[in-house]
Amino acid sequence: MINGIVAIVGRPNVGKSTIFNRFIGERLSIVEDTPGVTRDRIYGKGDWLTKDFRVIDTGGIQLLDQPFQEEIKAQVEIAMEEADVIVFVVSGKEGITNDDEYIANMLKRQTKPVVLAVNKIDDSSKIENIYEFYNLGLGDPHAVSGVHGIGIGDVLDEVIGLFPTKKREDYEGYIKFACIGRPNVGKSSIVNAILNEERVIVSDIEGTTRDAIDTPFTKDGEDYVIIDTAGIRKRGKVYENIEKYSVLRAMSAIERCDVVLFVIDGEKGILEQDKHVAGYAHEAGKPIIIVYNKWDTVEKDDKTMNKVKEKIRDEFIYLSYAPIVFVSAKTKQRIHDLLPMIHDVYRFSQLRIATNVLNEVIMDAQMMTPAPAINGKRCKILYSTQVSVAPPTFVLSVNDPELLHFSYKRYLENRLREAFGFDGSPIRIIARAKG
Ligand code: GDP
Ligand code: GDP
Repeated sequence: MINGIVAIVGRPNVGKSTIFNRFIGERLSIVEDTPGVTRDRIYGKGDWLTKDFRVIDTGGIQLLDQPFQEEIKAQVEIAMEEADVIVFVVSGKEGITNDDEYIANMLKRQTKPVVLAVNKIDDSSKIENIYEFYNLGLGDPHAVSGVHGIGIGDVLDEVIGLFPTKKREDYEGYIKFACIGRPNVGKSSIVNAILNEERVIVSDIEGTTRDAIDTPFTKDGEDYVIIDTAGIRKRGKVYENIEKYSVLRAMSAIERCDVVLFVIDGEKGILEQDKHVAGYAHEAGKPIIIVYNKWDTVEKDDKTMNKVKEKIRDEFIYLSYAPIVFVSAKTKQRIHDLLPMIHDVYRFSQLRIATNVLNEVIMDAQMMTPAPAINGKRCKILYSTQVSVAPPTFVLSVNDPELLHFSYKRYLENRLREAFGFDGSPIRIIARAKG
């Protein structure tokens, strides 16, 4: 569970991305290891003591062709909107600049807690450089050195102490889903088509203040919530056009939902930015449905759908488990299929396999095709258990985890899918040495 969101703000070159990397501990993400996934570095996950948090480096959010102050303003506004705590980074080497004062003034006019980090205090002889920063009126400055990793722990202590104590509204018992995708692919049109066409009953839930833009509703006795990629709509087109901001919004929604509808614009086809979004959804371990929208605009014969399917499979190899649906929010073609699909992939992501049945399937698979020998040694699976759902995660007790080759994992995953389905849901397989 994520306990809070921290955003890093500050003028260029003060050391934001250096500190960002310290916060996330430079841990390698699964996605970076996945072929075909590209990734930008404005968003990461970290943990400190018992808390897990998300980190946003607003320095990576850039406006094209805008005056510098507009850019800073947008970055600080995004931080204020997205974060629970803001870390304001300044440089102890240069002292207070006009830009620092400009940012400080914005931060003082809002309500999110701010932690002031004076960076580039590389050794104790520079410590007195921090005192002038009291003049910013943002409380006690912390001396840090991003490059040397000094003082980072103190900043994180304060940050996690400022996280909200109340658990976020999580709609117990509802299937939460979100439409994710580039701007203008038709996300809002699909949401509206679902809400208007399906004659759903929109529920009224008490106390859902933070995410008033989420829409809870009931259809065929099942409760759903559409998690909106808010903010975009609220802030209008300028923000929507900041590519990375829309990716950021998508990430918040991905984390909060149970099922991702990954929307592609059928009129434009697959673009690079689609891959960022899909990569994050995959990494988050959420069930995914690939929704190819604007199907009405595609000129087609009886082979078109299969051709497009092949292309999607090629471009998103790691999403082989995700069903594909061709819809039009405009003509409402196959909009009716979406809720039943959401329901199904959700169920699959929650599926628990009885241990004896699981072991039968794995043992059969192993008997049919034993693991390939590596340097004369072969991986032997002795016992399997499912340790969690969403995503379904399996731990295999093996003679030597090093011997479980990626391709054999793939083979086992395919056997599990043949036996149990798991449509739309990623599966994780972990090998442990037999204890
Ligand atoms: P950003 O533009 O705010 O994200 O800043 P960067 O993290 O890219 O850092 C800008 C420059 O400052 C780089 O050359 C860093 O190596 C340098 N830098 C960052 N942190 C420190 C630090 O703690 N001490 C010193 N001396 N230099 C630093
Ligand atoms: P969002 O930014 O992803 O939420 O996209 P919108 O729902 O605002 O749609 C962007 C544009 O695409 C609008 O002009 C829509 O009318 C149009 N659009 C959305 N879905 C379809 C569709 O299925 N077919 C066609 N032809 N246009 C669509």
